[in-house]
Parts: sequence; structure tokens; C-alpha cells
Amino acid sequence: MTNRTSLSNIDVITLDEKGTIHKNVTLVVENGIITEIGNSENDQFGSTAVDCTNKVAMPGLVNSHCHSPMNMVRGWAEDLPFVEWLEAIWVAESGITPDDVYWAAALAAAEMIRSGTVAYNDKYFYMHRVADAVQESGLKAALTWTVFGMGEDTEVGSGLDETIDWIKELDETSKGQIKTYIGPHSPYLCPDDFLRKTVELAHELGKGIHLHVAETKAQVDQSIARYNLSPVQHLDKLGVFDLPDVTIAAHTLHVDDKDIEILVNKNVIVPHCPITYMKLAMPFPSIQKCVDAGVQISLGTDGPGSNADMDMFAVIRQTALIHKYQTVDPAMVSGDTALRMATQAGAKAVGMSDHGMLKVGAPADLILLDMNAPHLRPVHNIVANIVHCVKGSDVCDVMVNGNWLMWNRELKTLDEEQILYEAEKRAHKIVDRGKKQLRQYARD
Ligand SMILES: [Zn+2]
Repeated sequence: MTNRTSLSNIDVITLDEKGTIHKNVTLVVENGIITEIGNSENDQFGSTAVDCTNKVAMPGLVNSHCHSPMNMVRGWAEDLPFVEWLEAIWVAESGITPDDVYWAAALAAAEMIRSGTVAYNDKYFYMHRVADAVQESGLKAALTWTVFGMGEDTEVGSGLDETIDWIKELDETSKGQIKTYIGPHSPYLCPDDFLRKTVELAHELGKGIHLHVAETKAQVDQSIARYNLSPVQHLDKLGVFDLPDVTIAAHTLHVDDKDIEILVNKNVIVPHCPITYMKLAMPFPSIQKCVDAGVQISLGTDGPGSNADMDMFAVIRQTALIHKYQTVDPAMVSGDTALRMATQAGAKAVGMSDHGMLKVGAPADLILLDMNAPHLRPVHNIVANIVHCVKGSDVCDVMVNGNWLMWNRELKTLDEEQILYEAEKRAHKIVDRGKKQLRQYARD
């Protein structure tokens, strides 16, 4: 039986090659695929169509780099410099259990659906429990279990070999809903031999790698002092950018011309997370050079311990604002560019390269915005209103693969009340356990 949804009297931001915007049309979805975008008056499904007057459809957003279970430490370490913040977060995170990670991931999934994210690229620990939350939520995801290659594996729940077993198992069972990456943390926390081993395994399994690169100027200086190479050049030498699948090089903020050439010529996506950089007061240069050179830049929230939420509409707006401000050029990061970074570019990071455009034949991963609100009127330029005025809470409906994950602001796949209860209770216990463990380490 055909599973059909027909949305009439709707405006559609297609984000196609021409940036087409349809006004007052009918959008039809059949078996998870968009099969028609046409004139509402000719709508052959008129009697069953859902009236979407005052609603706008656009491709669902993709959060291309985050650590979603860090929502458990949201608001825990405020107003601290980067290094002190990291230390404080580590104290709390050392008390986290696999079950906590599950509820944290469920909380994040609820937040993401509510704010219009349909797919995300998550990098954390105990990822088998994140996978459970993804499968229950109906979201699409790419998951990476972070490994360091030094210290105690027990700190992150798994060593490299175990994460490879997890990847093999999940690839067999997730039916394409979840993609996996190999996850060394970064060149500054992983020894070279370990990074080489991850590259070898990536070739063996046909995988990509998701890691952190050149977040601060100090990391670049350290790399040059140690290897006489920048982090990008160092990773290139180790083969991290020559994999069977894409390399996700999160942040990669401090780069020179040679680095940019490498990023353009290899299959690399660079997730950009400006709210985290601003909140942690991490200076970062404009992305103008990278954008002009053709580096594939997507957008992400990073962990909600630093951002501190997962609202991709906030990231879209802040990306446009900060780069206009930094370059003193109001033309920098146009509305259309910001929306494509948050949809099409991010989609490549989660293995959904056919995602990010609303057109016939595309998967029905879309969101509807309720434009009947004072901050969204009048509409001279709908893209401008979406980039600079829409908030995550303006998202009223979310569809993934033709299924509603939220309809009329009601979550259809998750038990939000239970998630909020569990998350609140567990977050306080996690922090208490972390503090206790730290005191124990200090005594030992
Ligand atoms: Zn990160």
C-alpha cells in the first residue's frame, strides 16, 4: 500500500541549483520520496491534503559535528577559559555510565527534532547506547566512538579494537539509518602509530575518519615545533585524508595556504561550530579564504556543554553574523550560503549526499516552519527571515523518510516526559559521581 502525504497551500524553499522558491503549492510524498511539487489547484489528492497555509517547507537541517550526550553538563562549567573548561567537564564526564549516555542521547534527539535537525554527526563514548536512541527517534545519524590510543580504555568505555567490532555490528543492523566513522580524537591527543593504525583499519573496512583538527593556534604551534608540519600537513602525511570515505576534520580553524590546498584536493569536510568558539572565547580567523578556495564547510553545534544548545537555526544565524563582522563585509556568508552549509554540506558528512534539496525524487527529509508569528512578518525575503529571524521553536513539523517525527509540535517517536525526568535526575548524579571519583584519584 502506498503511504502518501499531501501538503497543500505551502511555500517551499527547495535549495535547488537555482534556489527556487515555490509559493502556495502542494507537496506530495509517497513512500518516503517527494513525488510532486505542483499547483495546489490541480491537486489530485485535494480531499486528503493537509492544509499548510502559513507554513514553509525546507530541507531538514544537518548538525555535522556534535557530542550530543554532553548535554548532561550543560551549564555546569560556565565562564571559564578553554583549558579550565575542559578540566571541569572532564571531572563531570568521568562519572557518566552507558545508561546515562542513552538518556542524554534521547534528550538530544528530542531537542534536535524540536529545532528542525533531521540528521547529525555524533562523536562521543558508549556509542552503542547513542545508536539505540537514534533508532528509536527515527533520526538519521553518523556515529563515531572516540578513542585516544593512550591512557585507560575504561575511561571511554572502549579501545580501538572494540569500537571496530561495534562498527561491524552496527553496519549490519542499522539498515542504512546510521553511518559509522573511525574516531581518533585528534592529532594532539593520539600518537602517530595509533593514527596510522586507524588509517589502515579505515582502508580495511571502507570507512572514513572523524576527528578534531587545529582548534587553536597553540595546537598549530605545537605541531610545527614537533613535526615541522601543521596539523593538516601532518595528518595528510599519515594518510588521514586519503581514505575510502570522507574525512570529517572538525573545526580546522587555523590553516595556511598549503593546508587549504590539501583540504580542497582531498575528500574532507570541515564542520564549523562558531557558537562554541565564541562561548569559550577561542579566537578564530574568518572562513572567507577557505570558502573562496572551495573547502567543503558544513555547520555544527559541537557539544552542548559548550554551545550550550543544539539549535541549528542559531548556528546558521551566528555563522552569517560573525563572518560579516570579522571581515567587515556584509556580503560575507549570504543567507543562501548559510542554509546550504547547514543542509547540503552537512549531508555529505552523514552519508546522505542526495539530501538537502526539496525536489521530485529526493528523500522526504523535511521540516515545516510556522511563519504565523510576529518576529517572522512581514516577508520581503523569505530566506532572510529564515536565516536571521527563525528560531528552533518555530519548527512545527518534522518528517524523515516520509514519517512524521513531530507533527503540530508533538513528538511522535519519543516519550518526552520520561526523557526530561531521566535526564534531569541523571545529570546531577553524573556530576556527583565525577566529583567523588576525582577525590578518589587525588587520594590514590
Ligand atoms: Zn568537537
